[in-house]
Amino acid sequence: MDMGIRLFRSVILGLAGNPAAAALSRKYGMKLGASRFVAGQTRDEALAKALELNERKLLVTMDHLGEGVRTDQEADGYRNEYIALIDAMAVKGVRGNVSLKPTQMGLALSDQRAYERIRHIAAAAADRSMFVRLDMEDSLYTERTLRIVKKLHADGLTNAGPVIQAYLRRSDHDLRSLTSCNMNVRLVKGAYKEPARIAYPKRGDVDSNFKRLIRSRLDSGVYTAVATHDETIIDWVRTFVARRSIPNSAFEFQMLYGIRTPLQLRLAEQGYTVRSYVPYGTMWYPYFVRRLAERPANVGFVVRSMLKRN
Ligand SMILES: Cc1cc2nc3c(=O)[nH]c(=O)nc-3n(C[C@H](O)[C@H](O)[C@H](O)COP(=O)(O)OP(=O)(O)OC[C@H]3O[C@@H](n4cnc5c(N)ncnc54)[C@H](O)[C@@H]3O)c2cc1C
Repeated sequence: MDMGIRLFRSVILGLAGNPAAAALSRKYGMKLGASRFVAGQTRDEALAKALELNERKLLVTMDHLGEGVRTDQEADGYRNEYIALIDAMAVKGVRGNVSLKPTQMGLALSDQRAYERIRHIAAAAADRSMFVRLDMEDSLYTERTLRIVKKLHADGLTNAGPVIQAYLRRSDHDLRSLTSCNMNVRLVKGAYKEPARIAYPKRGDVDSNFKRLIRSRLDSGVYTAVATHDETIIDWVRTFVARRSIPNSAFEFQMLYGIRTPLQLRLAEQGYTVRSYVPYGTMWYPYFVRRLAERPANVGFVVRSMLKRN
């Protein structure tokens, strides 16, 4: 069973880098189901969705989709979009923060220039008392992303924090170092295709490591975001914090826009801080493919949408 799912994930994730599939889905995909996971193609559409979520007691983290940028010009454009997004969130009174991908800021081109762009965004966010999350991408960028976040903190921009992926074998070591710097971290299972040499291939091992990382963070008292739709893990966290009298103010749950919405609302109703990750923009294809890879049933959902249209 585990092997079947691994093969499925590997094939679907392979599509994320396929230009022909990307072009086809850009043409049709939003109508074929991507809108279930993506809050809109424009900033205004996404802000309207964010305000609706706020009204339902959910905080947001907004993500302007885009990754694997190839030119500095493109990366500058993405930086400008984030600055405009931060301003618009403040003007409209959206309760939330932003998440960005370091390769969208040009990390594949130059560490220094990517750092400058992210610093610019973090400074604009700091002016608005807003937090900036650096999403974690594939393992090619783990070390470089962590270096950028640490440099931001050293430069006084402590309103930034990274993501740690439980499937990576190195994560325990990384997390200790981030905890010792008091850094706000988002913990996830991990969404990319990684070799067994560096990542746990079995779901059971990923889940065990995820719990180990969550436990060490909650015990440390440093603010932590637990980002998962896995109800077993969520229930385990709830029991753990109740047993140790850890206050709800020490952590938050995060889930993706369009996934397990009733659970998000229920947890918020129960007094937990819940943040919805709200992606928008025209470059939604790789994000969409990762969501399909996480759950075979989502592919069925897309196929059903296609059949309905024909
Ligand atoms: C807020 C947030 C931010 C994230 N940021 C990053 C990041 O920076 N880097 C990174 O590598 N990964 C990131 N991820 C993705 C994460 O690594 C996992 O790939 C993803 O969350 C699926 O794992 P899970 O923990 O939900 O558990 P799973 O065991 O995969 O899923 C548990 C249950 O949740 C439901 N579910 C899970 N995924 C889906 C889906 N796509 N569609 C419908 N139902 C689903 C299903 O019912 C499933 O049985 C993020 C996830 C979240 C929620």
